[in-house]
Amino acid sequence: MFCSITFFSIEMKKLTFAIFLVISLVLNALAQEPLSYFLPEDVTYNNNIPTPDEYFNQQFGEWHLTHNQVLNYIKEIARISGRAVIREYARSHENRPLVHLIFTSEQNQNKLDELKELHVNYSRPGETISSENVPLVVNLGYGVHGNESSATNSSVLTAYYLAAAQSEKIDRLLENTIILVDPCLNPDGFVRHSTWANMHQSITDVTSPDSRQFCEVWPGGRTNHYWFDLNRDWLLLVHPESRGRVAVFHEWKPNIVTDHHEMGANSTFFFQPGVPSRNNPLTPEENYRLTYEIAKYHAEFLDEIGSPYYMEEQFDDYYFGKGSSYPDVNSSVGILFEQAGFRGRIRETSNGVKTLAFGIKNQFTVSLSTLEAALNMKDELLQFQKNFYCEALELADNDDVKAYIFGDENNRQTTLKFVNLLKQHQIQVYQNEQEFTSGGKTFKPGFSFVVPKKQPQYRLIKSMFEINTEFADSTFYDVSTWTFPYAFNLPFAPVTSLRNVQISENPAEPEIPEGKVFGGQSSLGYLFRWNEYAAPEALFHLQNQGLMTKVATDEFAFIVEGKEEEFTYGAILVPAAGQEMDEEEIFGLVTSAAQQTGIDFYGLETGLATKGIHVGSGSFVSLEKPEVLMLVGGSVGSRDAGEIWHLFDQRYKIPITLADSDNLNNISLNRYNTLILPPGPYREINNAAMEKIKRWTEEGGTLIAIKSAATWAMRNDLGKAQFKKSIEPDTTLQLNYADRRMEYSMNAIAGAIFKTEMDMTHPLCYGYLQKELPVFKSGNAVAESLKTKYAEPVKFSNEPFLSGFVSEKNLDRLKNAPVVSVQPVGRGKVITYHESMAFRGTWLGTNKLFMNSVFFGKIIR
Ligand SMILES: [Zn+2]
Repeated sequence: MFCSITFFSIEMKKLTFAIFLVISLVLNALAQEPLSYFLPEDVTYNNNIPTPDEYFNQQFGEWHLTHNQVLNYIKEIARISGRAVIREYARSHENRPLVHLIFTSEQNQNKLDELKELHVNYSRPGETISSENVPLVVNLGYGVHGNESSATNSSVLTAYYLAAAQSEKIDRLLENTIILVDPCLNPDGFVRHSTWANMHQSITDVTSPDSRQFCEVWPGGRTNHYWFDLNRDWLLLVHPESRGRVAVFHEWKPNIVTDHHEMGANSTFFFQPGVPSRNNPLTPEENYRLTYEIAKYHAEFLDEIGSPYYMEEQFDDYYFGKGSSYPDVNSSVGILFEQAGFRGRIRETSNGVKTLAFGIKNQFTVSLSTLEAALNMKDELLQFQKNFYCEALELADNDDVKAYIFGDENNRQTTLKFVNLLKQHQIQVYQNEQEFTSGGKTFKPGFSFVVPKKQPQYRLIKSMFEINTEFADSTFYDVSTWTFPYAFNLPFAPVTSLRNVQISENPAEPEIPEGKVFGGQSSLGYLFRWNEYAAPEALFHLQNQGLMTKVATDEFAFIVEGKEEEFTYGAILVPAAGQEMDEEEIFGLVTSAAQQTGIDFYGLETGLATKGIHVGSGSFVSLEKPEVLMLVGGSVGSRDAGEIWHLFDQRYKIPITLADSDNLNNISLNRYNTLILPPGPYREINNAAMEKIKRWTEEGGTLIAIKSAATWAMRNDLGKAQFKKSIEPDTTLQLNYADRRMEYSMNAIAGAIFKTEMDMTHPLCYGYLQKELPVFKSGNAVAESLKTKYAEPVKFSNEPFLSGFVSEKNLDRLKNAPVVSVQPVGRGKVITYHESMAFRGTWLGTNKLFMNSVFFGKIIR
């Protein structure tokens, strides 16, 4: 009896297990897909290559792959497959490797460098290489936005397919093509999102869009470490991810570049071409035709798997800083893909319940259609690239402007940073060797550079220097202009004949020089000017070592090494007297600051000025070392906050404490003298926290409120701010219902550049030696003047237009409107910036206008 019970229970257990197995298989089949769901069946697969299912020990699309998993798999493919090699091209800010796999036939792998050279040389103007053995190069790029998970997850399938698939067609593809697979363009953001998605995943199917899985916490995974959108950075090259990527681009000159994204969960699938009326006129028409021809392949492949799609209705490649548009101005064809993004394993959408696996399948399918198009259109694509560069030289011949000249002897560091950027884009820059004057600007030899337009990068040069005044469409997916000399605040001018300038024989290879200490060790002190870019870094470096520093609020001159050196408002004095260290130590610190930052120092030989104030003057005002707190999280805009974080941390090496805006109650503000509020509505700040900020400001703190944060400050009696009324809809304008969006875009400022005028004697304007400063504006809010004396040292000028799309009505609103306002609150200050001062980490020209409030906010009377 006992035995039979045992026997019975064992049988029951077996049966229960069998039922459980069947049920779980059925359940799993609902949510997960076997590899055959994704892979085409017209090829066989090499068993030596581990399938993603085998390698990860899970069904593909079940859990979000982590960055390490992707990286390990990619490395394994490179180790096993003779078709692939792996290259690391950069490290992210968080030190994650950015890699790509290079696929081609085993035979081609043996002469990869030779083929690369052949490919690049083929399209060089003047080369007469036969196209017969020239390989086509395709770059497949996945997931520049870290939370668009189907992109990077699908790259693993692409890698598997290219390593394992066997057929006559695959052989032809690999013989004729070199394929760069870039699995993860933004590892730091991808890690944030994959962690988030996995940590909120249930084993049962939770499909409600309300799930926390689909709503990442601030700042989400879209952006990189400093919360920048890397899909704007291809032209700006602020971040190591983009710098590495663009170097690879120019190394290989791919014929097609794909850029795999996700959009809203309730959409379907988009591929380019985008909206035709929003094409950038600098992109050749032939590019759009080729994009359309390639699109037919995507359509055919997606039809095959029954997946709906659209094109031409949305998105554009107007701004060249995106992954799908930078290639367009560089002889390649960039293609944007946008898959509906589900952000989790499974989710309800207006198109039914959708899975990560479905998104992956679509992304993988258009990777295959791109490769098929590449193979079939090889000759056309190679010819297009060759023509692109030949045409560039012809266009330059027909252009009235033959070159651009730029540079500023008082802004050497920024000038050299711009030269460096141009060089990274393969633009040849030459030293200007003779004084040149144009439009009231003088360009001195040694401090200015010339970019002749007749070179293969003609189109990109034009795009980086040109002033945009005419537009076919008033809608922009991104900014409407990006004139770089304005962003860097560098004087520049067109040159109509190269005979008018004398340039160096070879392209310039300048490096930012080390700073010097003129006059050597001093028993009186040291001076340095505030105009160069790194001056704030130098000042903080010295303050941080414990040195007392002062700023000049007047002009003066001293003889140093027998030469009269003139100094203006904002010059910094490091006195030798009154410090807690001896002369030698001070000299050592000043010398190291000069070497590290490139700033020149002047050792005083006497306290007696030849002009203006002397060393003991009360017009040298003592400075406090900035102790900066910035609110982040909550309702704060992460983009603006990230730009400021990057400005302090990367550009100036100044520590900035980031604290959650809803945690103010637990923070003592007493250790900070500067509090930065990036734009945001600040709903999370309760009364107690608000009172705390108020008390702290009244007791002498400098509160810096940016854009919409000024409205919050004003509502809480922290200064005044008023904004001009937005433009009323035009009642005389009769538009069709279908065109209703146009009405909005006509009066929107998507991103344009305007002229401002500064009071250069005001502490907020120290370091600027020209009255006019270009400012980037995006968004429609325009501040009203406070009509208070000395409160608005920077205003839009009376004729403010410089470049980009703006309606006449908006231009009128901008005239004389303040850009920055300063108001006293008790013993402290509220400083409000109505425009971004560090836009995309690229607007170096306005960076100092912001840093001045950090260093000099307290001394404003
Ligand atoms: Zn995206």
